[in-house]
Amino acid sequence: MASTTKTDYYELLGVSRKATAKDIRAAFRKLARKYHPDLNPGDKAAEEKFKQLQEAYDVLSDAKKRQMYDQYGFYSENVPTGDHGPSAGGGAGNVNFDFSGFDFGGGSGATGGGSSFRDLFSQFFGGRGARVEEEAEEGGSLEYQLEIDFWDAVRGAVKKLQITRLDVCETCHGTGAVGTPQVCPTCNGSGTIQQAAGKMRFNVPCTRCGGTGKLRTACKTCGGEGRMRRTETIDVRIPAGVASGGRVRVPGKGNAGTMGAPAGDLYLLVEVKPHPFFERRGNDLYTKVPVTVSEATLGAKVDVPTIDGRSIVRIPPGTNSGRTLRLREKGVPNVRNGTRGDQYVEIQVVVPQPTDERVRNIMKELEEVAPDDPRKDLFSKAGV
Ligand SMILES: [Zn+2]
Ligand SMILES: [Zn+2]
Repeated sequence: MASTTKTDYYELLGVSRKATAKDIRAAFRKLARKYHPDLNPGDKAAEEKFKQLQEAYDVLSDAKKRQMYDQYGFYSENVPTGDHGPSAGGGAGNVNFDFSGFDFGGGSGATGGGSSFRDLFSQFFGGRGARVEEEAEEGGSLEYQLEIDFWDAVRGAVKKLQITRLDVCETCHGTGAVGTPQVCPTCNGSGTIQQAAGKMRFNVPCTRCGGTGKLRTACKTCGGEGRMRRTETIDVRIPAGVASGGRVRVPGKGNAGTMGAPAGDLYLLVEVKPHPFFERRGNDLYTKVPVTVSEATLGAKVDVPTIDGRSIVRIPPGTNSGRTLRLREKGVPNVRNGTRGDQYVEIQVVVPQPTDERVRNIMKELEEVAPDDPRKDLFSKAGV
């Protein structure tokens, strides 16, 4: 088996040269699931790719081998690397977890030495599974975009939302393993094996069980991950007053944690659709209300839409177009304390159309009665 390939191991696993051991493990697990021959029967390309992945992982997951690979661009077993010799157990050359010919006794998933996908993971991740137990990790948070309309934002709402998250596997309850752990036949449960390097003999952690002395059978349902991707519909409560760009937190609806660790949270990034009448700025609402010339001149009481329904607004006599009236606490409630903003009502005077002769006559008369020049200060103001 060639231990050098032209393919870059880091590239193959899709990780950077600075990737941590954990990153590398995660990347390999993901890819191994995708390319495993059992999941791609008869696909030679997948099989080849899987072999390369194993090789890459074998080197990069081992600090000594990785260092050598980084230094020389290849890893070869023929170069002494100190405490790390050929793998014990499987007799699989420089690839620790060549999945051919494993026969571990008693594992409920194993059928007579077959090289099944599950076997690989119970073998490969057996020891790691035990380590993960110590490494219980909180689930990551998830973020979804949520577009809601103006009224849902103002009044609050309960929305149904379909999300896809990693949930605890129901078969193994998140442990990734099923059944009672078996004593590792390679190290007889001691967790260490002896290795010879020249005349020296070393006790090194058993590569088959990862030094735990036990082999666990990976859960068939989740493939040892302990978590399953699941799509579910949840009810999300949108608080009244939420604004565009606001984040609504749904506790515990992020990804499930590993080994019983708490789940992450789900965050909904809210986008509120604009409303044709109410223009929202913060918790204030800006509205435009048309009035007639006589209403503006004589004053009037007009009905104005607010988010509570109708409000009567008094237009003072002599109101010009553009004047803004304020309706206190008719704005949007503050999402935290419910304190309401204000509604601003901009008056727009609508002039009568001069189609009727009487209108024209009244306007002419108006000109004579009130001959004030509204532009008398215009040029002095402009300074021209
Ligand atoms: Zn499971
Ligand atoms: Zn062992």
